[in-house]
Amino acid sequence: MTEDQMTPTAATAKSFVPYGLGRDRGLDAAELGAHGVELDRLVALGLPVVPGLTVPVSHAASLAQPEVARAAIDLLQQVSRRRVGDPAHPVLVRLLASAPAGGGVPADLPGLGITAGSAPALDAIVATSEAVYDVFADAIRFVGEHGAGIPGDEFADAEYDATSPADRVRKFLELSAAAGFPYPDDPAAQLAHAAQATLRRWASPRARRKRQAHGLPGDLGLALHVQAIRVGPPQTFGHGVADSRDPATGAFAPTGTFRRGIRRGPAAARLGEPLVDLPGGRDQLAAALHALEADMHAVAQVEFEVADTELALLAARKVERPAPRTAIRLAVDLAEAGVFDDVTAVGSITTSDIETLLHPQLQLTGREELFARGLPAAAGAAVGRIALSSARAVEWSEKGDPVILVAEETTPADLPGLLACRAVVTVRGGLASHAAVVARGLGRPAICGAIALRIDQTGRGVTSDGRSLAEGELISVDGSSGNIYAGVVHVVPPRPGGDLEALLHRADRVRRLAVRTNADNGRDAALALQYGAEGVGLCRTEHQFLGDRLPLVRGYLLAADADAEAAALAELAAAQKEDFLDLLSVTGGRPVTVRLLDAPLHEFLGESAQEVNPMLGLRGVRLAVMRTELYPAQARALFSAWVDLAASGVTPQLEVMVPLVAVMGELVSAVASIHRAAAEVEARTGVTVPYTVGTMVETPRAALIAGQLAGIAQFLSFGTNDLTQLTYGFSRDDVEAQVLSVYVERQLLPVSPFVSLDPDGVGELIKTAVTAARRVNPEIKLGICGEHGGDPASIELCERLGLDYVSCSPSRVPGARLAAAHAAVAVSSATG
Ligand code: PEP
Ligand code: MG
Repeated sequence: MTEDQMTPTAATAKSFVPYGLGRDRGLDAAELGAHGVELDRLVALGLPVVPGLTVPVSHAASLAQPEVARAAIDLLQQVSRRRVGDPAHPVLVRLLASAPAGGGVPADLPGLGITAGSAPALDAIVATSEAVYDVFADAIRFVGEHGAGIPGDEFADAEYDATSPADRVRKFLELSAAAGFPYPDDPAAQLAHAAQATLRRWASPRARRKRQAHGLPGDLGLALHVQAIRVGPPQTFGHGVADSRDPATGAFAPTGTFRRGIRRGPAAARLGEPLVDLPGGRDQLAAALHALEADMHAVAQVEFEVADTELALLAARKVERPAPRTAIRLAVDLAEAGVFDDVTAVGSITTSDIETLLHPQLQLTGREELFARGLPAAAGAAVGRIALSSARAVEWSEKGDPVILVAEETTPADLPGLLACRAVVTVRGGLASHAAVVARGLGRPAICGAIALRIDQTGRGVTSDGRSLAEGELISVDGSSGNIYAGVVHVVPPRPGGDLEALLHRADRVRRLAVRTNADNGRDAALALQYGAEGVGLCRTEHQFLGDRLPLVRGYLLAADADAEAAALAELAAAQKEDFLDLLSVTGGRPVTVRLLDAPLHEFLGESAQEVNPMLGLRGVRLAVMRTELYPAQARALFSAWVDLAASGVTPQLEVMVPLVAVMGELVSAVASIHRAAAEVEARTGVTVPYTVGTMVETPRAALIAGQLAGIAQFLSFGTNDLTQLTYGFSRDDVEAQVLSVYVERQLLPVSPFVSLDPDGVGELIKTAVTAARRVNPEIKLGICGEHGGDPASIELCERLGLDYVSCSPSRVPGARLAAAHAAVAVSSATG
């Protein structure tokens, strides 16, 4: 018989699509609806699905004809190998609908195929809170209300009077009969009525308007699906929802809940028994979730039914935005299973996922009292007592109290307080201010530029927006958002775990840029190496003279005569050698860039510095021009430390760096004095110390004469904190909170240029410098050591500019490894 010789009903029956056959027939979501496509996919993966069929969109209306509905039930009986109405192997018919796109479809009707006569026996079998009567009543009401037009209020009244689900069924049947639309006993007639009611509801003016409001066509089609639900006693029958991953660890482990009895609709609340109590099908569930993860490349979630220990899937979807720990574990597992290559694994994780794992986080409930806001200067969270001076921070922390240092701004003299506190908050200063830089180095959360804060040292308290807190009161700070809360907010500790390292190991294989760290001492360097840094890109030697050591630098800077200066310098150099030994013994044979002193005088001398504009004053190499013995003394200390370490077999790759150069002669004389120091150490020890010499590029002029600099420098390191400050004329200490936040808010700038490297201005200067330097010296090593070295967008720009390495604070090293991998992929795909 050909298709045109068939009766209309038989032809329609041919259009039924058992789950799994849609793809073979060339049908997609436009005909099968979203659910039909989803179940097709599950069948194609070889997974067990609920027996069922789809009536495609173009034929859906025909299911309202009893003979078509009968054909559907016949086919359903074939695919499920059960007969509707067979008391020995009971089965219910479920009707559900799905559109090609969007939600808002009428509710599922799981209770078709029940009659007043069969209900008691079925209820005795299912034996869970009269669920059979519940789903039976749902079907009668839906058909009556939406198919026959019986007012919903009449059903509501009947329901109100009913004493039990069984009584409700009785009342609903009477109501339907009295209205002239008796609910049929024949399952095919029930299905036809239910289909008609579903389609009418979908076509109602209200439903159309709703779709249009969601940008969908009002006349969007609807596919109908008919399923066979094998019901049984509670020991063997139920339904549930499961995710593929344990949210606590991120490990693969089916996690969810299970409920005995009939499923009435899509799983909403996660109520029920744990999956360990599943009467059967646990292995099938795990295997299904495993296969789905590999197919969807995501954490999978399924809805399922279990009957007689057999699992049947009803739905499957991706879990959107899983917790960072879970996302990382999934990426590593899929990569190990060969599903992901390194690029895909690394591309599935963001740097903010990594930040979440590496730093403590505040667990916000929405009920916190926001006290003030500042710039998010160093990630992490902490709770502590407000300490308004470094001395008090030290005093209280020694007593075992957690403290948060709150200051106008910090200077090197505050180092003891910065070490003692759990976090620091400053009223002034930006992301490259002293407090921000030191806090990042120490791994402390920091909020800078909280300009609404008023510190009252006499009254010993802080005020913000009319609200006051006394010194000693508790606050909670979130260095990732810049929010300061009054009182205690729960802090969730970081738990990086081995998966993060496994993921970053893959990132290392993808990236081109080397990742180094900014570290001034052995402790910071050790942390950074643990995080995967390949060397030190910036050791700020002036930071070695903070805290207790401050008098050494002051003694030198304020020396009254040549003798006092020489004595102070000798003392300073001796201390410095100890510090270099500490740092270099940790870094081993890796490259270490040691920057000679760059001491903005106000940071070390305070008021007595007497410079109107200290960041543009006697800083960096300029001081070495005035005090010619300074750099040689530092270089001798460094080379002597190397000689001592080499005797024990440790040979770091020394790179000596000159700061704040703007004039060629500055570099020439600094390099000469470094070579002189090396020769002196060689003469004294008989050891030739290997080292290279380079300079920072942190003045626009240095960038413009980079070709000349490259004539004698073996490496250039872009100090983008100062380079940004000097290119824009934005003081890195003054403008961020007051000016740049307004610029960003009013969209004058997309982001603070101290956060993300400015590609158009500062980036162009770097590009000019890179081109000129490489022309003169193709072997020259080029890197960046400003705070931008840890920022993902800036790292991408560094990749585009062809730098060799980035250097950032220790806690940003893991994120930089990942960002460098992302950058390599982005740039190579952009350049083909
Ligand atoms: C810079 O200016 O980018 C830099 C790294 O030096 P500092 O922050 O110490 O001035
Ligand atoms: Mg600088």
